[in-house]
Amino acid sequence: MKVGYVYDPIYLKHDTGQHPENAKRLEVIISHLEGTGLKQQLTPIKPRVASVEELALAHDERYISYIQGVAQGGGGWLDGDTVMSADSYEAALYAAGGVIRATEAVMNGEVGSAFALVRPPGHHATYEQAMGFCLFNNLAIATKYALAHYQLERILIVDFDVHHGNGTQSVFYDNPQVLYISTHEYPFYPGTGSIEETGGRAADGTTINIPLPAGSGDAEYLEVFEQIIIPAAIRFKPQLILVSAGYDAHWADELALMQVSVTGFAQMVKIIKRLGDELCDGRLVFTLEGGYNLTALAASIKATFDILLGNTAIEDPLGQSPHSSKVSDIAHLIKKIKEIHNLA
Ligand SMILES: [Zn+2]
Repeated sequence: MKVGYVYDPIYLKHDTGQHPENAKRLEVIISHLEGTGLKQQLTPIKPRVASVEELALAHDERYISYIQGVAQGGGGWLDGDTVMSADSYEAALYAAGGVIRATEAVMNGEVGSAFALVRPPGHHATYEQAMGFCLFNNLAIATKYALAHYQLERILIVDFDVHHGNGTQSVFYDNPQVLYISTHEYPFYPGTGSIEETGGRAADGTTINIPLPAGSGDAEYLEVFEQIIIPAAIRFKPQLILVSAGYDAHWADELALMQVSVTGFAQMVKIIKRLGDELCDGRLVFTLEGGYNLTALAASIKATFDILLGNTAIEDPLGQSPHSSKVSDIAHLIKKIKEIHNLA
């Protein structure tokens, strides 16, 4: 099956200045995919703008107008972390539209799976608030779009960004059609994502938080994938899987304290791919969230594509974490999460 990717130079025009979330991230990813010859193996998917109506699937219309207004005024800081430039609104429309297009391409069978290489990222953006480098919640918008447009009843979101996707969780907290599973460093920014957050009254159990201690690496992540994510996904029977793919849990990433390697990310993606193949005809839509060490980011994205393509050789230029000898004991955490969610 074909593997698609969404990219457009418009994403470089979201100018954040001196900021970890900058245009260089996508430039390095694209040049690495080109330089390694991988890009030729992929099917390009042209993004489009998301309409205001589509943005409003996950956002307050007053908030959408506010973001448009800030761009018209030349940009500015929305909070202590989140900044936009004059072109950021347009880039953000294409980011949301890019994930929608990736979803359409997968649902229509143009490609088997797809990865939207977009920015600004989205998983911290709530219904009415920008935060954590995010303006619009690209993945939440695409999820709502897929539910409505293809009459789907069950979508699984896996969020392996090192930060908790508070925005995504909040959009779907009361929606039993969406199972949101997040692995994240905890306690850490943005502060949410405890095991007790399990969904609202009408959707209890459809939010599964896996808050991992700082220092967790490949072994811990793979353990929670095996013990929690696989059985929860199989039980939910998703018709489509969307992935908030952030690579800031890499050991070389300076924004967090996890110890995951490129090989570790590849193994997680392999599990997600297997779940997709077994549960929903391989329908997977990845979207880029965090990841700030450029070498680790580019190599991890390439490894993700290699897994999706079925390529067996994974290149890990950075290797294992030099600190990975300290394995944190997460057996107790896993046991508690399995109890809360009735996972045998
Ligand atoms: Zn992140």
